[in-house]
Amino acid sequence: MNAARVWLVGAGPGDPGLLTLKAARVLARAEVVVHDHLVAPEILAMVPRRAELIYAGKQRGRHTLTQDKINALLVRLARRGKRVVRLKGGDPFIFGRGGEEAQALARAGIRFEVVPGVTAAAGVAAYAGIPLTHRDLAQACVLVTGSRRRGAAELDWKALARPDQTIVVYMGLPGLERISRELIAHGLSPRTPAAIIQQGTTATQRVVAGTLAALPRLAVEAQLRAPTLIVIGRVVRLRNALDWFVP
Ligand code: SAH
Repeated sequence: MNAARVWLVGAGPGDPGLLTLKAARVLARAEVVVHDHLVAPEILAMVPRRAELIYAGKQRGRHTLTQDKINALLVRLARRGKRVVRLKGGDPFIFGRGGEEAQALARAGIRFEVVPGVTAAAGVAAYAGIPLTHRDLAQACVLVTGSRRRGAAELDWKALARPDQTIVVYMGLPGLERISRELIAHGLSPRTPAAIIQQGTTATQRVVAGTLAALPRLAVEAQLRAPTLIVIGRVVRLRNALDWFVP
């Protein structure tokens, strides 16, 4: 290939079929794979047997390695001359802290490549039958995180509360009540269609849909657990006709 030592690879949102050909090719040549908990077991099974597999964690509240330690680990493995694959759920540069890992590698003077993946917004919404944009319903789509470095996210609620745009919230379940309340307080109709999807694109996918006002209660009633993706906007209504995926 080239002089790269580390590949930051997106594994997609769950369905192993959503792994890119390039990711599969890079994985097949890996000597060390450092992976997150969101990577599907079927994809981990593609790691060559001779390769070392390192779990770098990160479940909410159960961080196996801190981000600094992960950064340092990647640098150390690369300096040992290994071909290192950093395998992350979805896309490495969307809420995956792949940017921070790339910065650490760049600072250390280590060559790297980024292999994009299907991010949860694209994959999970598609499998839930929700087109994120639509000429009649949503001219924009915004991806936000519901969690912040410390505590709850402080988002630009006014900019988000627009009827002609789709909002996709990553890591939003713990803050759903607040998100719903703030969006309504900033002018979005409480009747705006909204959905929350647990383990999208997988055999255990569950979708709970309703109105923006009702979604927090519906999510509690359904006892949803991470990973979940929240989609808010008029496009969610299309799901009634477009719900094609049978888990
Ligand atoms: N880099 C990843 C996102 C990492 S943040 C990407 O591009 O998709 C982790 C969050 O992504 C989860 O908390 C959840 O909000 C979302 N997510 C990832 N996979 C998901 C899935 N299969 N179903 C629902 N949400 C998912």
